Amino acid sequence: MNEALRKFKAQLAGKFSTYDASVRQTADATFFMARNQSAKRLIVMGKKGVCALFEGEKIGTIDQLDVLACPLNDHNCGRLMELLVSLKPSICDKKLSFGFGDRIGVATAAHAQIVNKDEVFPVFAQQSVREITRTERSWREVLHSAVWGVFESGYDGAFGADADHVKKIEDLESAAHVGYTMFTIDPSDHVKDPTKIDRRELVNFFQEHPKRREIASKYIGKSFTVLDEKLSFDEDSFAEIFTTYISAIEHVESCYKALRAVRSRGFDLEVSIDETSLPTTPLAHIFFVQELRRRGVDFQTLALRFPGEWQKGIDYIGDTDQFSKELEKHVAIVKMLSGYKLSLHSGSDKFSVYPVLAEKTERTVHVKTAGTSYLEAIRTVAKFAPDLYREIHKFALSRFEQDRASYHVTTNLSRVPNVDEVSDSNLSDLLDQPDVRQVIHITYGSVLTAKESGKTLFKDRIMKVLFEHEDEHYNFLKSHLGKHLKLLGA
Ligand SMILES: [Zn+2]
Repeated sequence: MNEALRKFKAQLAGKFSTYDASVRQTADATFFMARNQSAKRLIVMGKKGVCALFEGEKIGTIDQLDVLACPLNDHNCGRLMELLVSLKPSICDKKLSFGFGDRIGVATAAHAQIVNKDEVFPVFAQQSVREITRTERSWREVLHSAVWGVFESGYDGAFGADADHVKKIEDLESAAHVGYTMFTIDPSDHVKDPTKIDRRELVNFFQEHPKRREIASKYIGKSFTVLDEKLSFDEDSFAEIFTTYISAIEHVESCYKALRAVRSRGFDLEVSIDETSLPTTPLAHIFFVQELRRRGVDFQTLALRFPGEWQKGIDYIGDTDQFSKELEKHVAIVKMLSGYKLSLHSGSDKFSVYPVLAEKTERTVHVKTAGTSYLEAIRTVAKFAPDLYREIHKFALSRFEQDRASYHVTTNLSRVPNVDEVSDSNLSDLLDQPDVRQVIHITYGSVLTAKESGKTLFKDRIMKVLFEHEDEHYNFLKSHLGKHLKLLGA
């Protein structure tokens, strides 16, 4: 065991228990995570100069070194990231990468414990603008909670920080300033969905677009061989694809330029068109990539809309064979155009398609999960604080109709059992039922931000349960997310 840690345990035991894996050393100090009855602390044992960098309380002296117990605040996180470069997020250097979104900020240590850094590049900080708004968090808070988790776990590999599903330039800029290394631009508001927009409006848009002729000359009559199938752009297919995607492409171009202006160092860029109603066709995929390239947009991952239903928190609904065939075509296009990989969104719990995804992409793919870790937190609550779970469950039901508006789900509330009739010992199994999973999954923002006379209705109590039952919470997370990684072959 690390010598400084051993001495700390011998002399200051009783006040704190330590996270032994977290210990890190520099020339001037030793750092590790510890916890007392009510909170976690960063312990700094070092010379005066190092200790002066941190905000904390002096709790002793060991071998003439000051020992500080420091709160896990932004200031201390920033200092620690400056001293320990492995805590800084970086760009992806692996074929396989995996996003572990964490809506409450205490799951990363468990996530990090199951990552084999040689096989998968983890993105530990990953929240969408929608999630940040609904949970009343900030880019900085999301990043820092992930960094504290990385520190606690002792993980020393590279990891990323993804500002996910960003629609506005100002949100990209603020995430860039805080140190995010991956940006997911979601131009879906600019996709002109032919199933939702009046046909005449689409025709007018096409005919009046100033770049229409110039761009048409690059596509019409061109053909591409994808898996022995010859795909060609004719007047009609070009008009439809151009009209559907051109504004989205222009939006991505503006976002990219703005990002380059604020973040000169490298970053990973993802473009996501997964939240459209129609699956992305092979020709649309080709057009989208070629047009981004022509505009100099350097992107690393692309999230397409695949056939079938990709609902939150539950397995894939659809024809796995059809998904497999479509995926094969898109993978062939990626190989043909090269230089980027596919990204699968709403990837949590899609166990039935993971083996296909891993095989067809040859494990060159990015997968994003988010709400599934929140569900494991709530499973922990159901197990150790049954009455609190019942309160959350009823509250979630009362908010479901309102909160589902921005999600596509087919939840059947009549299949959700009366929570008062479920025994304490069976409560956590409710989190295995798809309808209950979606009710809890979608109402996270309402639950986490509900307040009464200035105090949170649930969040503080949830956090207390998770703190008191941390091992069990971590075990739930490790087993559930571990299943994801295993099925992906990592
Ligand atoms: Zn998405």
